[in-house]
Amino acid sequence: MESISVLDMFKIGVGPSSSHTLGPWKACLKFTDRLGGNIENVKRLEVQLYGSLAKTGVGHGTDVAVMLGLTGFDPETFDTEYIDSTVGGIRAEKKLHLNRTVWIRFNPDTCIHFLKNEMLPYHPNAMRFLCELEKGSLIRETYYSVGGGFVVQEDDDELSETEHVALDYPVESASDLARWCRQTGLPISGVVLENEKAWRSEEDTRNSVLKIWEVMRDCIYKGCHTDGYLPGGLQVMRRASILNNRMMGDKPYRDYETWRRAIRDGGEGFDYILDWVSCFALAVNEQNASFRRVVTAPTNGAAGVIPAVLQYLVTFRENHCADMVFRFLCTASEIGTIFKKRATISAAMGGCQAEIGVSSAMAAAGLTECLGGSVPQCLMAAEIAMEHHLGMTCDPIGGLVQVPCIERNTMGAIKAITASQLALYSDPDKAKVSLDAVVKTMWETAQDMNSKYKETSDGGLAVNIPISLSEC
Ligand code: SF4
Repeated sequence: MESISVLDMFKIGVGPSSSHTLGPWKACLKFTDRLGGNIENVKRLEVQLYGSLAKTGVGHGTDVAVMLGLTGFDPETFDTEYIDSTVGGIRAEKKLHLNRTVWIRFNPDTCIHFLKNEMLPYHPNAMRFLCELEKGSLIRETYYSVGGGFVVQEDDDELSETEHVALDYPVESASDLARWCRQTGLPISGVVLENEKAWRSEEDTRNSVLKIWEVMRDCIYKGCHTDGYLPGGLQVMRRASILNNRMMGDKPYRDYETWRRAIRDGGEGFDYILDWVSCFALAVNEQNASFRRVVTAPTNGAAGVIPAVLQYLVTFRENHCADMVFRFLCTASEIGTIFKKRATISAAMGGCQAEIGVSSAMAAAGLTECLGGSVPQCLMAAEIAMEHHLGMTCDPIGGLVQVPCIERNTMGAIKAITASQLALYSDPDKAKVSLDAVVKTMWETAQDMNSKYKETSDGGLAVNIPISLSEC
C-alpha cells in the first residue's frame, strides 16, 4: 500500500504548474543527481517533452523549469525574483551551468524538444533526457510527471517518489480511514498525525505543516498587494489587489496579521465574505501564474482553493490558532491521498476534476473537521465537493494556467464551503453517495474523458477563444 505523507501532498515550490513546472524541475534534479561523476564528462544534453508536457509546456513554463532544474536550483528555496534573469542568461549565452558543477553548451531552442504529436505509454506527461558523454556513450533516461509534483522514473514503480514506510493506520480508501477513526476514537487529523510519526517526530511534523501555512498565507498577502498584468501574453489583469483595495478602503494595517484582523472586523455580510474568499483564491493563483512561490495543494493550478478556505476559516469563523491550522491541513491532505491512490490528481489523466475537484474535496473535509463535524461528516463534505466537480475538463487558453484556472479556484473554494455547510447539517448515514463511490466515479469519468480535455489545450475554451499567437 502506498504511503504518502502530508509533506508529499503539500509541497513548497514555484508556479504555474505542479505537473508541468514542479514535476519536470524535480525530474531534472533527479537526473543530474544520477549523473554522479559523469557530470564532468557531459558533452551534449537534450530534453524531449512528450504529450501534454509538449502541448502546454510553453504556457506552463516547462522549458523554464527544465533550465532551472538542470542548473540545480531547489524549487523550494530558489528566489523567484531571479527566474527571468537566470533563464534569460541561459538563452543569451546558450550555455548552462549543469548542477552548478560544469558548464555545457545548451541552446534551449535546439536542446528542449516539444514533441507535440508523440506520447509515451505510461503517462501523458513524459520527458526523456538524452545525454552524450565525452567518450561517446549515451545516457537515456525517461521520467513521468504524474501530477501534484510527483515524479516517476521509467521502470520504477510510482512509489519511487515516496518512501516505502509502514504506517500504523494504512489508508487506501475512505472506508479504511473511517474504520481507523472509529477504532482509535481519533479525528482524521489525529490518524494522520499518528501515521506521520513513521516519518518524523510530532514536533517536526507540526513545524513543517505550519511552515506550509506560512507560505500559503504569505502568497495570499503578496497576491493581494501586487497589481498589473500576468505574464504570457494573454493580457490578463490581476484582480486580487483591485478587490483588496476596494474592500479595505482606508482601513489601516501594516502586515498580514493586522490585515486579517481588519478584514474580520470589517463586516460579516454574505457578499462581503464571498468577495474576500474569491480575493484570497485569486491572489494565490495570480501569484502562481506569475512563477512565484506557492504550495502545491494538491496541484499548482488548484493551489488557491485550500489557502482560500483556510483563510476564510481563520478570518471569519474561528480565531487564528496553530492547532486548528494543523488539523485543517492534515485532514485535507488525507483526503487528497485517497484521490491520488484510487484515481488521479493529474489533469493530464483526469481533467480539471482531478485538480480543482480534488482540492475542493480536501478543503471541504478540513473545514468540516475544524468546525466540529464528525468523521462521517468530513467524508461527506469531501464527497459533496467532488460530486459537483465530476466531469470538469481542463482547457486552459493559450496553454497558460490563467483562464479558466484562476477563477476556477474561487469556485472550488466556495463549493468547498457549501459542501461543508451541507455536511454539517446532514446525517451521513442517510447519504446516497459515499466518498469511495465518488472517487471511483471520478476515475471512471477520467478514463472516459476525451484527451483533448486533458491539459492539452486541444479543446474547450482553448479552441473557442481566439487569441493572437503574437500575443502569446
Ligand atoms: S483548467 Fe484546471 S486542471 Fe487545467 S490547468 Fe487550469 S486549473 Fe489546472
